[in-house]
Amino acid sequence: MSLGPSHLGSKDELSARLAHIRQQVPPSVRIIGVTKTFSSDIVRQAYDAGFREFAENKVQEGIAKQAKLSDLTDITWHFIGHIQSNKALKVVENFDWIHSVDSLKLAARLNRQAKSLGKRPSCCLQVKLAPDPAKTGFEIETLLSGLADLDQLSALDIRGLMVIPPYGLTNVQVRAIFEKGAALAQEIAGRSLVNIKMDQLSMGMSGDFEQAIAAGATMIRIGRGLFGQR
Ligand SMILES: *Cc1c(COP(=O)(O)O)cnc(C)c1O
Repeated sequence: MSLGPSHLGSKDELSARLAHIRQQVPPSVRIIGVTKTFSSDIVRQAYDAGFREFAENKVQEGIAKQAKLSDLTDITWHFIGHIQSNKALKVVENFDWIHSVDSLKLAARLNRQAKSLGKRPSCCLQVKLAPDPAKTGFEIETLLSGLADLDQLSALDIRGLMVIPPYGLTNVQVRAIFEKGAALAQEIAGRSLVNIKMDQLSMGMSGDFEQAIAAGATMIRIGRGLFGQR
């Protein structure tokens, strides 16, 4: 691999951004690098800077990148995009974490695929806490009434919720949505469920991770703040 001067510059810039974000985030919070639209070389640079957790939102793009990074065997790969049912198998096959389990039907399908592959991926249930035409996710009522069925899906290690606030809200409104997510996770954790755990909250992106951490996020998903504008 040949690294030109501009490439070296971007590596320094990446290291500086990584250090800057790390400084602002408690060690207990996992920082997941969202590398969608960025090349496998960028992932490799972040790996060299110490990062081990990366997220993609498109199946083909993610798998193509993983193929170029197959020598880096200790990366944890997260899937954070909407999953079409015909892609469920590929997601289970290639990702350790699935944050975007957004319906009972998808959960059941992922569970079947996981069983057939002898896997048990870690999952978050994506929940919609405010109206948002741009995003999928469980409505609160659907999620609560589906818990008993979700709890039967023994090939999924359901660990918590993923929350994405709609665009265009104030910091205060965003914080309120994250608090609502934390409260919902607590409510679910209080029910007598066998498989489902609620020890993870995947909340917060480049623009709102401070509010998410204040509300109890355990995993933040950072793209632009680490890797620059897409
Ligand atoms: C793109 C994306 C992110 C990262 O967003 P940034 O604003 O680049 O930090 C986080 N979560 C999901 C689900 C995304 O699609």
